Amino acid sequence: MQIYRQSRRLRDVRYDVRGPILTEAMRLESGGHDILRLNLGNMHPFGLEARPEIVEAVARELGSGQAYSDSRGILPARAAVAEHYRRCGVPGIRAEDVFLGNGVSELITLVLQALVDPGDEILVPAPDYPTWTGAVNLTGGVPVHYLADESDGWNPSLADIESKVTPRTTALVLINPNNPTGAVYSAETVRGMADIARRHGLVLLSDEIYEKLIFGDARHHHAALAAGDDVLCLTFGGLSKAYRVCGYRAGWVAATGPLDRAQDLLEGLTLLANMRVCPNVPGQYAIPVALTEDSPWGADVIDPDGRIERQLALATERLNAIPGVSCVAPRGALYCFPRLDTEMFGIHSDEELVLDLLRSEHVLVTHGTGFNWPEPDHFRIVCLPDAAVLENAIGRIAGYLERRAGL
Ligand code: PLP
Repeated sequence: MQIYRQSRRLRDVRYDVRGPILTEAMRLESGGHDILRLNLGNMHPFGLEARPEIVEAVARELGSGQAYSDSRGILPARAAVAEHYRRCGVPGIRAEDVFLGNGVSELITLVLQALVDPGDEILVPAPDYPTWTGAVNLTGGVPVHYLADESDGWNPSLADIESKVTPRTTALVLINPNNPTGAVYSAETVRGMADIARRHGLVLLSDEIYEKLIFGDARHHHAALAAGDDVLCLTFGGLSKAYRVCGYRAGWVAATGPLDRAQDLLEGLTLLANMRVCPNVPGQYAIPVALTEDSPWGADVIDPDGRIERQLALATERLNAIPGVSCVAPRGALYCFPRLDTEMFGIHSDEELVLDLLRSEHVLVTHGTGFNWPEPDHFRIVCLPDAAVLENAIGRIAGYLERRAGL
């Protein structure tokens, strides 16, 4: 009998955030168990609502949005993205050089398909947001992981990046602020990464979807600024996180730098954008409203009551109070990425650990190796639930780990 198989290209593609652990959680839920889901950076289920102006802008266009748009996206939205980066100090950026997509996720895949030939090496951080590694594998390229340094606030190690550049290296990926670590890269790190790209002729692929979710004295540094006019930089951003509309699938990628030398690549990207026809059209109308500077709410939409910042601080403190656990305080994004003492907890597989935690405590987190971290000694916890739920969840994690360690 015919067996219908997936393509060989999918063999090395993984996306564990929605993998077998989530399937198991759904199986438990269908059996009547309540699961504390701390696995997805999805804003709305946790009561984090978008500004009504953003929702109304999309609702207003449900009629006109029945039509296809320009394959790169509607001009007012692309112009708003270009204006946003100009306000951030990136000079000369034009609406023509902005492509909209169904979230950053689609654009990561599209850009890598346009850029990478089989065997090309792409430098990707470890840990990473796993769509990056998965999308490189999908192209037949080779993800080469460079280490983020936990002892240096999870800043990427410039020495490790430099040591991994080869003649096949094509691009260098930054995720800043970072998922899963919460790192916000220092100015020197971003400058250093741009310098490596400059010296070796690499494209900078900068995922800045959490650009506005930064806390305390952290400052975000745009890779496009460090790249200047001689390094090609593709900056990815979108409305899913800071503007809380994950489901609208409103993302963008903006090209800056020596675009006269990037025409061939941009034509390839345009071809792929044409083939997917256009992004979801009503969702695109959220972009000019979200990015406007003149609204009464301006940039204060992000964490107006400081809730996300407080929850991240609370989770960090509670995790650090568990014997055998240490957690670098996140300075941005929505996550904590604590380290576990593998010897004390007898951990050989972090996937087994999070599955066991799920079955025994009904708390759903994601194992660190699912983010391409090389050791089974971390997990990611989403800090979107309110303080009471977070305390409950971390209390259960603490109880589980203490039992596991025989304390
Ligand atoms: N990049 C990073 C670093 C993310 O954490 C996410 C989502 O969690 C995405 C990209 C994808 O976002 P979206 O496709 O909703 O724009």
